[in-house]
Amino acid sequence: MDVFKKSKIWFITGTQLLYGGDAVRQVDEHSQTITRGLNAGALPLEIVYKGAVDSAEEIDSLLKRANTEPECAGIIVWMHTFSPAKMWIRGLKTLNKPLLHLHTQFNREIPWAQMDMDYMNLNQSAHGDREFAHILSRMRINRRIVVGFWDDRETQFQIADWMRVCAAWCDQQTLRIVRFGDNMNNVAVTDGDKVEAEVRLGYHVDYYPVGDLVETQKGVADAEIRDLVETYEAEYLVAQELRSNEAAWRQVWEAAREELAIRRFLEEKKAKAFTTNFDALHGLNQLPGLASQRLMAEGIGFGAEGDWKTAALTRLFSVMGFGLEGGSSFLEDYVLHFKGEGAILQAHMLEVSPSITRERPRLEVHPLGIGGKADPARLVFSAHEGTGVAATIVDLGDRFRMIAAKVQCLALEADLPKLPVARAFWKPEPNLAIGAAAWMLAGGTHHSAFSFDLSFDQLEDYAELAQMELVIIDENTNLRALKEILRVNEVFYRSM
Ligand code: MN
Repeated sequence: MDVFKKSKIWFITGTQLLYGGDAVRQVDEHSQTITRGLNAGALPLEIVYKGAVDSAEEIDSLLKRANTEPECAGIIVWMHTFSPAKMWIRGLKTLNKPLLHLHTQFNREIPWAQMDMDYMNLNQSAHGDREFAHILSRMRINRRIVVGFWDDRETQFQIADWMRVCAAWCDQQTLRIVRFGDNMNNVAVTDGDKVEAEVRLGYHVDYYPVGDLVETQKGVADAEIRDLVETYEAEYLVAQELRSNEAAWRQVWEAAREELAIRRFLEEKKAKAFTTNFDALHGLNQLPGLASQRLMAEGIGFGAEGDWKTAALTRLFSVMGFGLEGGSSFLEDYVLHFKGEGAILQAHMLEVSPSITRERPRLEVHPLGIGGKADPARLVFSAHEGTGVAATIVDLGDRFRMIAAKVQCLALEADLPKLPVARAFWKPEPNLAIGAAAWMLAGGTHHSAFSFDLSFDQLEDYAELAQMELVIIDENTNLRALKEILRVNEVFYRSM
């Protein structure tokens, strides 16, 4: 993904001149060693060391450059020695990039036998970082704090986790979403204020009539369609029965035409996310289910029925989880299963990303029974098992709220021979009764962006960057406590 190639993280070390130039030189050397060590780990973005700073002028000028430098996706700050924090105020006042405060130390352990006063004065992150943290808290600046030895796996894992937020945040600031058709009529929860979304979250949403896509479709050549259908045959299980059914195979061909047209349209508009609406397909042969599935698997955001908020969120999740194994997708709550702790079948009409399965998807063509169009092609599979996060963003009128729930993806209890759509089957934490009630109390959608690869820490970072409310539902959720949080949040977020 482009954003991972072009983005860098700046590393800045705080110090002061109290202990002389030699001490600062040592601080600088240590910082370079740490930066090299971090870059040798498995981090998704490269770290660039920007020097040890010891004055308000230097800090202000460096942070202002960070604000305007497109390559800078975030800043890691560490206080090697004591860096009196008033010198940070001027620079921090305008900082607009994600911030990670690394509370580490050059040496892992206390050198009991060798330690003298010079050593102690040089290695004072323990209190230097507290001084710096105070000014961040005083100035109400959100940041991720990572505490740990810089060469430890767990510390680097947390830095990597945050870097993925930086990349995704950066991507969302220039994200363009194309909507083919509008929001599904009368549906409240997927709608919202697109102007406020652009102010808070960065992305831009444009509407296009489906007729424009139909026009683009006219320019798709038969040779391109033939090549793409060959790709389908190589990637997916295709029954001989489908190949030999001329009418059904024609539908696969038409699905490929739609996919090529949507790809071209998104490229022309420089859009990385889109929505469709099954009720507004004038001039298209079928609901572009297969196209939505394949594009999502490549990291393009998708929302059904005009759901642009979820399209942005599926894009966010695929950027955050880029290169990781679990996969992410758009999903919708469908059928409840009141057995044991309870579970929900997740699916959509067609549009589920094959990145969440380890099966080889089956390419099939069946009637849809809704929307009044020809039979659409689709990929059929079940999501793999594992722990994941399902999230949504809703517009409460005066603010956005993200609701994020931990879910356990389970194996299906039996085959679904009469339901030829992709699906996942999950148990919300802590169980269906509490998980579903909490989601509904918070006003969550029936649509969600889902990922096997993300942490709540990442969603917390994202919500803090957007100054957006976040409600987490997990194994510790208690409905009475949740109601209290929602009441308190009414006051807190109204004051922001
Ligand atoms: Mn839907």
